[in-house]
Amino acid sequence: MTRVNDGIVIVGASAAGLSAADGLREGGYTGPLTVLDGELEPGYDRPMLSKSLLAAEEHAMPAPLRTSEQLAAKGIDLLAGHGAMGLDIDRRLVVTNWGEAIGWRHVVVATGVAARPVVTSGGTALPTLRTRADLTAARRLVTSGRPVTLIGGGFIGLEAAAALRSRGVEVTLLCATELPLAGILGKEVARWLHDLHLANGVSFDLGTATASVEETAQGYDIHLADGRVRRAASVLTGVGTEPATDWLIGSGVELNHGVVTDAAGRTNVEGVWAAGDVAARRNPLHGRPRRFEHWTHAIEHGRRVGLNIARGEAAPHDAVPYAWTEQYGLTLHMLGERRPGDTDIVVEGSIATGDFVVAHGAGDELHGATVCGRVRALRTYRKLLRARASLNDALGAAASA
Ligand SMILES: Cc1cc2nc3c(=O)[nH]c(=O)nc-3n(C[C@H](O)[C@H](O)[C@H](O)COP(=O)(O)OP(=O)(O)OC[C@H]3O[C@@H](n4cnc5c(N)ncnc54)[C@H](O)[C@@H]3O)c2cc1C
Repeated sequence: MTRVNDGIVIVGASAAGLSAADGLREGGYTGPLTVLDGELEPGYDRPMLSKSLLAAEEHAMPAPLRTSEQLAAKGIDLLAGHGAMGLDIDRRLVVTNWGEAIGWRHVVVATGVAARPVVTSGGTALPTLRTRADLTAARRLVTSGRPVTLIGGGFIGLEAAAALRSRGVEVTLLCATELPLAGILGKEVARWLHDLHLANGVSFDLGTATASVEETAQGYDIHLADGRVRRAASVLTGVGTEPATDWLIGSGVELNHGVVTDAAGRTNVEGVWAAGDVAARRNPLHGRPRRFEHWTHAIEHGRRVGLNIARGEAAPHDAVPYAWTEQYGLTLHMLGERRPGDTDIVVEGSIATGDFVVAHGAGDELHGATVCGRVRALRTYRKLLRARASLNDALGAAASA
């Protein structure tokens, strides 16, 4: 079955893909625009899955990012339940699970990432939180009343811990590092966050990776790398992600832990672009191409790629990286990027009170800032980071705040 399109095809109808569609229309593209997604109800508020929706008493589902009226108004043809299975760069076709071959002049890869699975020795993939379907499964853990062991101390694990505690679920969190998120937030903020979880009743087992998981009659035996075995009644996992690029293997598009792009979103194949979590951008600051897995980045990056295609430009996506996390009613905002070995300086407030700005940097270079409470500071530090200001400038900004 061939669907003639010969316009622009976007694969992935989430934050990056739908924003790319918006960018295309905003940039003046008026031709055919098709967005494919393997999910039956794609395009929803994914960050809410591990926050209010996991904690919700009623079975609310995430809000859709676009209504069918909004899509129709922009002339966007959304093919839900149509997963891309392959990309033919010579004949310029996307091949789908329905056997369709859809022609394109430009294609945007916005397929995001999938949760890295933790599979038991019996071959069962343990529950995680990435999709609507995952949320439904994870909620069963809340209603079962059984204690939950969380494997993984990243954002998803910590947010899920907070959500489960708000429903009175007993939670133990296993984390391979000595302190969850210390590399991203710095030790002092990470310690404060850890203590906040402790105060809310979360138990931790830190500094040991999970080696394997075995199903038992009572639940699971979790074998830790240090040789100990922990019993668990039920398990939820959050151990990282894998870029959703299987369908591109052998296509000729360069892959390296994601779809490799330049700063404008172009891949090595003319007419093939990538945006959002799946895009691994070449960056002079880092050795290997880097992916950013954050909501605001996916939206901004998608729009930039759409504008570039529509206008025939190659403008770089150079917004200051931003991410947030919500735990126990507090929101932590992260601007820029803390790098390994960075010094962390409290420039405003105090960490202990949960009202602070911490600047991250090395020498006199400012690399990032973590903000809690002081939302007004976000504008200041975004400006400083954009202007490549120094750590001294950050201290100066704090003094005049
Ligand atoms: C539980 C959770 C909580 C989060 N919380 C936050 C937060 O608080 N703050 C923050 O900054 N970020 C958060 N994130 C990260 C944020 O959600 C992602 O950065 C964002 O969703 C990336 O958007 P994307 O469009 O690039 O990819 P995705 O949202 O992953 O979307 C990719 C889409 O592509 C589709 N797809 C995949 N393969 C194919 C294929 N072969 N064919 C067709 N379609 C395909 C998928 O079905 C999906 O709809 C969270 C993520 C999760 C999972």
